[in-house]
Order: sequence, then C-alpha cells, then structure tokens
Amino acid sequence: MTIINSIMEISFNKEDGSYRKIEKYNPEKLAELAHHYEKILELLGENTQREGLIKTPYRVAKSMQFLLQGYEMNPVEILESAKFKEDYRQMVIVKDIEIYSLCEHHLLPFIGKAHVAYIPNGYITGLSKIARVVDIFARRLQVQERLTSQIKDCIQSTLKPLGVAVVIEAQHLCMQMRGIQKQHCITTTSDFTGAFERVATREEFIKLIGSKLS
Ligand SMILES: [Zn+2]
Repeated sequence: MTIINSIMEISFNKEDGSYRKIEKYNPEKLAELAHHYEKILELLGENTQREGLIKTPYRVAKSMQFLLQGYEMNPVEILESAKFKEDYRQMVIVKDIEIYSLCEHHLLPFIGKAHVAYIPNGYITGLSKIARVVDIFARRLQVQERLTSQIKDCIQSTLKPLGVAVVIEAQHLCMQMRGIQKQHCITTTSDFTGAFERVATREEFIKLIGSKLS
C-alpha cells in the first residue's frame, strides 16, 4: 500500500501486476461541494443537464479537495517523523521541487519550482520530507510570498538548523490568462534565516541551484 496523500492510496497486486486506486473522499462534503458547483455553473449561464456537464460539479468537487488537501496535513509531523541525529554541518539542497498551488485571490493555479536548503545543526531529515513539506503548504490557497515563508519557518522551527533558504520561481495563470496577460513572466520569491543571511552563503546557494536570481 502506497499512501500518495491524505485522500488517495495506491495498492499494488503482485499476482497480476495491477494497481488499484483507493480514494478517501468524505461523501457528504463531496455532495455539498458538487451542489454548490452546479449552482455556480448555472449562474455562469450553463445548462448543467447537458451530457458533458452532468458529472462536472462532482468532478470539480473532488478535484478541489485534492488540490487543497494540504489543510488536512501537518508538515511539522512529517519532518518530525524523519528527524535523525547527525553531525553533518554542510549545506543540504533539494532543488527543482515542483509546485502546483492555487492563488487565493483568483483560485487560479500558479506553477513552478521550489529550491530549499538548510545547514543542519545536529539533526537532518529525509530529503523526500522536504519535498512533502513544500507540497503540503502548496496544496492550500496561497500567495507565493507566504508559501515561501511558511516553508522556511516550518523547517527552521522543527529542525532548528543553522539556517534555511527557500527560493520559489513560479508562473501565475491569473497573470497570464487575465489581467495584464503577460505570458512568460516568472515571479521569484526568496526567504532566508540564520547562516543564509550572510552574503557568501546565500550566493553559494543561489549558484548551486542555478537560479537567475542574484
Ligand atoms: Zn491571482
């Protein structure tokens, strides 16, 4: 059994090599959300009884719960679950962590990459846990600035390292599809603590992630 996230599990059948997906959506919540999405589609001028739209409110209800599942997960617990005593005191970098989030102003996606580094101070964590922490905060309604700081704060307060650095580079569909319609504009945000406040350490990190940020 592989738990992909809080609402989906994949089980693998060794005998016939098949995969089975188990979804754990709350049926009452799903029905209520679907009901509201149906009303929204009607208000927007659609005929919700036509073939292509019959199941859409239900699909959107599931999709939104998937995209916003981060509210039900605790990133501190994830880091604590894989916190190991270790004397390593060099920079640990996890780069190019994919981000799929929703902007809280327009409920439109912003998509990009996060680069996270920390310098351990007695404790390290599993590298996949860093990516999980990024994902948990991204799977909530967000602004890129707050997402950046929340990842930094969570790692800083849980692992208490000598420093944390987070850089996020993302494209916002609310900028590309509406508003000023800038197609290739990338927004970069960064936040640092401790050792990364020093210019030399920060520059080493920026160089290692290969960002255009300087
Ligand atoms: Zn927006």
